[in-house]
Amino acid sequence: SPEKEAIETLLKTRKERIGANLSISYKTPLKIVKGAFQYLYDDQGDTFIDCVNNVSHVGHCHPTVVRAIQQQAAKLNTNTRYLHDSLLEYAKLLTDSLPAPLSVCYFTNSGSEANDLAIRISRHYTRQKDVIVLDHAYHGTSTVAMELSPYKFDGPGGGGQPSHIHKALNPDLYRGVYRYGDAQAGAKYAADVERLIAALKTSDKGVAAFICETLLGVGGQIPLPPDYLKEVYRHVRAAGGLCIADEVQVGFGRIGDHFWGFELQDVVPDIVVLGKPIGNGHPMAAVVVTAEIAASFNNGMEYFNTFGGNPVSMETGIAVMKVIQEEELQKQALETGNHLMVGLTELMEKHPLIGEVRGHGLFVGVELVRNQETLEPAVPEIDWIVEEMRNRGFLLSTDGPLHNVIKIKPPLVFSKENADDLVAHLDEVLYKIK
Ligand code: PMP
Repeated sequence: SPEKEAIETLLKTRKERIGANLSISYKTPLKIVKGAFQYLYDDQGDTFIDCVNNVSHVGHCHPTVVRAIQQQAAKLNTNTRYLHDSLLEYAKLLTDSLPAPLSVCYFTNSGSEANDLAIRISRHYTRQKDVIVLDHAYHGTSTVAMELSPYKFDGPGGGGQPSHIHKALNPDLYRGVYRYGDAQAGAKYAADVERLIAALKTSDKGVAAFICETLLGVGGQIPLPPDYLKEVYRHVRAAGGLCIADEVQVGFGRIGDHFWGFELQDVVPDIVVLGKPIGNGHPMAAVVVTAEIAASFNNGMEYFNTFGGNPVSMETGIAVMKVIQEEELQKQALETGNHLMVGLTELMEKHPLIGEVRGHGLFVGVELVRNQETLEPAVPEIDWIVEEMRNRGFLLSTDGPLHNVIKIKPPLVFSKENADDLVAHLDEVLYKIK
């Protein structure tokens, strides 16, 4: 067909003109031409429910956000060396949503850049270089962010673990070394961080920072065990290090019960990193720190970022915040997420392939296993399921070090009806696999 031919031409040109180490989703690639809220439309006129894009947080092309971008782009876009109201208005909105000590913002254009800056700030503050990360984590694609990312440096093409980066155990209660039923698991996983700090001490080194997501994304859609961050932060602070929360995927109301992931653990980080959802697709990210840390970073070298904090980005951010509040999307994430998790958990009785359903709000993981005892990962079954769901109009994706976790993190406007449809189709697809 002419459509098929057009796709072939696009693929061929892409191969020639775009770096080939960029994968394409699905066996039959999609050409998405339009988006509206939780729906995406392809060039064939087919509609898909987006169950996985946590960037279009308040919905694809939300009119309030689109209007804010259009109006500001038509008026002015400059850098932050001029005074501008929206820079301060957005900084106020952000810091008002965070615990009081987190009061000073730096604006960047991507999560990678923000993590890079957070590490630079922590190294300056502590005069140390070493950083503790969680195994299998991903924190971005800049050179420093990749050094923080075992998912990258331990994988194909990675250069291996840098000597100043230290990997702590992934605190996974389902298949990790300490599991559900062990009330001390959080403290035991945290003790691994304490062990790394002690090892650094023996070679006269301290720790600049501990960085982790407040629910693990690439690590496998994993909520942290109770008390984990409280214990980790205690160990890190006792050693003079800073605690960085990467909220790029998790923050901004997605988890429902709270606006920020770290609130689930009842801790206050020293540095918070934000990205993806805050611009609803417009590229913007931020680092928020305490006044004391900001004062230390004001070290004589200017921090200037050409695009970070520009008026169009700031107006976009303000609009996203406004929509989250006006449409009560955090509450919707909680209610829809709980409804979805009940539906998915009911599937477990019929389908032993589902090992665990976990998450908070609209940040959900479904871990697939071939055997409930050995926890053998259900690969390649998971790839077949994701393809089959795509053919039925549901865009899903996979995550986790063993590539066996279905990730579900849709725009927050995802409805209970969408959740019911997703569960019903997943039920049929799982029956087909037997
Ligand atoms: N941190 C986390 C937890 C992420 O998931 C990502 C992106 N997947 C990043 C940082 C990097 O963000 P960006 O791609 O915007 O640079």
